[in-house]
Amino acid sequence: MRSLCRWFAKAARDLPWREVGPDGRRDAYRSLVSEIMLQQTQVSRVLEKFEPFLERFPTLEALANADEDEVLTMWSGLGYYRRARSLHACARQAVERFGGLPERASDLETLTGLGRYTAGAIASIVHHEPVSIVDGNVERVLLRLEGKPLQAGQTKTRNWCWGRSAELVKKAEGSRSVGVGVAGFNEGLMELGAVVCTPKSPDCGACPVRMHCRAWRMGKQDAIPLPKSRTTKKPLFLACLFVQNPDGLVLLEQRPKGGLWGGLWQVPTLESDTRVSKARVAEYFGVATTDLFGHTPFTHETTHRSVRVAVYGSRRIPTVTTDGRWIEPAGFGELALGSLQRRVLESGPTARAQV
Ligand code: SF4
Repeated sequence: MRSLCRWFAKAARDLPWREVGPDGRRDAYRSLVSEIMLQQTQVSRVLEKFEPFLERFPTLEALANADEDEVLTMWSGLGYYRRARSLHACARQAVERFGGLPERASDLETLTGLGRYTAGAIASIVHHEPVSIVDGNVERVLLRLEGKPLQAGQTKTRNWCWGRSAELVKKAEGSRSVGVGVAGFNEGLMELGAVVCTPKSPDCGACPVRMHCRAWRMGKQDAIPLPKSRTTKKPLFLACLFVQNPDGLVLLEQRPKGGLWGGLWQVPTLESDTRVSKARVAEYFGVATTDLFGHTPFTHETTHRSVRVAVYGSRRIPTVTTDGRWIEPAGFGELALGSLQRRVLESGPTARAQV
């Protein structure tokens, strides 16, 4: 524990959400934003988006008062837009119910989008509350330290990790060693998992806790945790219609709030669980098959779906779009567009439709 905390104090990466104020503490709002952004997104990508987001929404109140469309736009490029909507809802609830972000993990956990891990991370790292945290990194490190051959991500595994983590947090809180505390211990464990005890080829030679690591002593660091069982993703088929009017404007529509890609902008799109023929695409959009051209297919993976995308150009304006808007390509940056949709717009055939 001492070696981990000392290592973290020296080796911690210099990240903008780790800055401390004059009181020596982290800012809880910055921690909240970073924790939500870092879920399922690489640090390098979050680093590009974190400061612009904070400049636009510098306080919890500013975020709470913002329009959802604007929040989604500032989230563009981070993916998993449900997190942006949850963060926005969380800010509103925190302001309404607590007059700001609460400090205790039990209160934080009542807010939309904050699970046990995120609430514990903010409460322990910012406010030094002795609560444990378990994410994928912590899980892997704990399993290897204890030499536990369990499968990653399973309920049984997570339960064991929460229990073990709670025991260690208690020790950290009770420790009299200089520099050992709950915040440094929790974050040190996460950092170790992120940069040293990585999923593949952990750098055991550089590990500050290898003398306490059972997996390393047994030479089983590459075999623990046991690999997750693979689940097959369901396919989703999208037929996207790229239409540009004689003035060069492109027809876009906004998806309904909630659900997959909720609230994001897209070209008129037909979704199906089965493959869609060109005739079906033409019928759905109310154009002739001879008006469709430039079929460009690509595949896009989400957590649960394998999305097969076909981008058509159309020489006619479709009849199904009820809520569409004609947008100048130069204005795409002002809209909340997911990465899939950016690819659709980049690959869209360019002939202009006849009105
Ligand atoms: S010794 Fe290796 S396997 Fe053990 S905690 Fe350190 S990096 Fe992970």
